[in-house]
Amino acid sequence: MQVAFVDLKAQYQSIKRDIDSAIEKVITDTAFIGGKYVKAFEQEFASLYGIKNVIPCANGTDSLYIIMKMLGIGAGDEVITVANSWISSSETITQTGAKPVFVDAEPVYYSMDEKKLEPAITGKTKAVIAVHLQGQMCNIAEIKRICTRRNIQLIEDCAQSHFSEMNNIRAGITGIAGSFSFYPGKNLGAYGDAGCIVTNDDDLAQKCRMFANHGALKKPYHVIEGINSRMDGMQAAILSAKLPYILEWTEKRIAVAVLYNQYLQGIKDIILPAVRPATKHSYHLYVIRAKRRNGLMNYLKEEGIETVIHYPTPLPFLPAYDYLGHTRNDFPVAAELQEEILSLPLFPELTQAQIEYISGHIKKFYKDQGYV
Ligand SMILES: *Cc1c(COP(=O)(O)O)cnc(C)c1O
Repeated sequence: MQVAFVDLKAQYQSIKRDIDSAIEKVITDTAFIGGKYVKAFEQEFASLYGIKNVIPCANGTDSLYIIMKMLGIGAGDEVITVANSWISSSETITQTGAKPVFVDAEPVYYSMDEKKLEPAITGKTKAVIAVHLQGQMCNIAEIKRICTRRNIQLIEDCAQSHFSEMNNIRAGITGIAGSFSFYPGKNLGAYGDAGCIVTNDDDLAQKCRMFANHGALKKPYHVIEGINSRMDGMQAAILSAKLPYILEWTEKRIAVAVLYNQYLQGIKDIILPAVRPATKHSYHLYVIRAKRRNGLMNYLKEEGIETVIHYPTPLPFLPAYDYLGHTRNDFPVAAELQEEILSLPLFPELTQAQIEYISGHIKKFYKDQGYV
């Protein structure tokens, strides 16, 4: 049996008619950039997600950059984010001219350790980018309290957490703005690059919309200089076609995780993902911690099972951040996680037979090694 890490073909086959007709309409209307399909997706996503403003843009990296720029963040400022994220969370800080400051992960849920946030705040700290990794909310309620007390802006990186919740509040709604990616492999994925900003702040929404469109709300009235970060009509139409299925797909992801939890129970050399109390995990990823992780990964590969490490190197240990001079001791939890984490295949169409196959091989690996 071959099991892909994410099988985008299976999803396309299940909604082929919707997608094909959406694409055909965009071409017939030649509504390639901006236009009515982008407007329609914007309104549909805002209404389904429960937020006032959705500002479409080219990807989920630009969205972070645009938010920070429009909050006035720049040279001389510091912005805090978590050590174990994707580089978008930190490279966009540098793009604004500000300095990225990292906080370690915590060991149970792998997101920003809110207890280590306050000590990282200085007189220069302007914002925190809280990342909801793997589909699991970070402790956004506590991070929000700290940011409010210290008069710091809170931005949420929701690229991995479409429709995740804490205390019934969705990712992206607690902070001043949230940033989403619609990269093909994300829980809601386009067929190319796309992203958006969500915010209930009308003033910030207007500024972001302008900045993403060369500084103009209406061409050619450029109020400021901006950037070119627009969503394609084709991507918007594809996202609109997928939107009616997203809640069902999220439930299917949760069901996959429940099955993994059952089948993988009792293997003492792996730790299963823990769910933070009062949250809804949208399972962008199902991440286990595994002893002899590299051996397990190779064995699964030989058996046709594709797994991925998210991420092999925490951000502060990447060559890109050598200049900050960090060592493993600065981020001990992220450093430990990097040796053990492994993301198992997860997508809504993953079958029970596939989950059994994967789990069976994980068990067999540890049994053959005399570990179970
Ligand atoms: C995917 C991702 C992004 C960036 O998304 P792109 O659309 O690929 O630019 C940002 N942050 C996190 C945590 C991500 O996983």
